[in-house]
Formats: sequence, C-alpha cells, structure tokens
Amino acid sequence: MLRLLCTTAHPDDEVWAYGGSLLRYREQGVETHVICLTRGAAATNRGEAKSGEELCAMRTEEFHQACQILKVSHAAILDYPDGGMAQFDFAPAAADLTRRIREIKPHVILTLGLEGTVTAHVDHSMVGLFTTAAFHWAGRTDRFKDQLAAGLQPHRAQKLYYVTASQTWPERQPVSLAPVTARIDVRKYIDTKISAFRAHSSQLPLLEKYGDRSLRQPEELFHLAATIMPQAISNEDDLFAGITE
Ligand SMILES: [Zn+2]
Repeated sequence: MLRLLCTTAHPDDEVWAYGGSLLRYREQGVETHVICLTRGAAATNRGEAKSGEELCAMRTEEFHQACQILKVSHAAILDYPDGGMAQFDFAPAAADLTRRIREIKPHVILTLGLEGTVTAHVDHSMVGLFTTAAFHWAGRTDRFKDQLAAGLQPHRAQKLYYVTASQTWPERQPVSLAPVTARIDVRKYIDTKISAFRAHSSQLPLLEKYGDRSLRQPEELFHLAATIMPQAISNEDDLFAGITE
C-alpha cells in the first residue's frame, strides 16, 4: 500500500495546505498520515478557553475532527512549543521526525515551505526544515544510529514536496516562494475541505476575517524539493507519479 505523510505546525494547517490532496489520495487507496507538531497554544482566537491547557485540549479535539472529515488514516498531534519552534533545538526535532518516518515508511512526504508559506509564520519554516532533514536522514545508516540499534530500518521516502503558492500575501512579511512544479486538482473536494476547516470552531474568526477564498482554490500547489530519482524538473499533476511500491 502506498503511504503519504504530511507534516504541519498548527491545527488547521492540514486543511488549507493539504486538505484536497489528502482526500484525493485517500480516495485512490493511499494510506494518509498527518503529524501536527504543536497543539496551537499561541492562537489569537481562543474560543471559550479559559486557560492555555483548555485551548490546547479544544484544538486537539478540533484537529482530530478535521482529520476525520479529511479521511486521514492516522493523525498525530505533538506538543512542540507553538510560536517557539525556532528556539527549539534542531537535532532532537529532526531525530523525532526521522524516527516517525522510519516507523511510517511513507513513499511521499509533504511539508510546509521553508520561507514560512504565504503567512510567513516562522513555525511553518521550522516544520519544513525539520522535515527536510528527516526526509534525507531517515534513509541513512549513519544518522540517529540508536534508532537503528533499537530495531528500526533506514527508510527512503521517494519524493519530498513543499507547499507553495502562485502569489504572496502583501500584508505579511516578505517571503520568497518555491516555484510551482506540481498542480493537484482538488475541485471535487472543496466543500469537504471547507467543512474540515469549520471543524476548527475556535479558528472560525479567521474564516470571517480572510474569507474562504484560499480554501476554494481549484488546485493545491507544490514544489518538488527532492527525489530519489535524479531528474530535471517537470510539471506534474500527480504527487505519486513515478512512485514504486
Ligand atoms: Zn500554521
């Protein structure tokens, strides 16, 4: 069975960044995994939560509901510091994600763009950086050897993609986006994607503020960042093109 792994920073990233692709590939029989690194404690919109812990509990529940709507096979939410990922030590985070890749054995990995995506969020950059290191290191026998000694095998995912966009948000910090190399048609899944975003009840003020325009895009855009098959860049419309089981 083919496996897809998506890594994100905050509950709700899984929807706007990959929602349509998660639905599309699950429908094609791919096993889908989402790992969200924080529980969203730093959110501006805090719903009815009276404490940070209440907010985290609420957002964790919302994340699982959204993943259910996106038919995600395995959803995990971790406890990295929301808003503090750039201060977090690189090596343990990369080791953690390397171990998870060796356990899940994904064929394709999607992560957030290193620039921070259109929102320029530093946590987004850090998830992209940690995941990029983990993508490359999971397949090597000389990285995190303790994991291998404990029985895990090296695993080489076949492709790594960054989420990207065709335009930036002028009201945000400047970002230099990775060029679009893959366009995934998600028209069929737009309504479900919006329902999944709405499962993040505490974050609905975002929908009121920005509207659902970005969720209504007919395509999700990605940049092929690394592949085990050396090649020139091409325009793809399928993230699993060329993947072998
Ligand atoms: Zn985010």
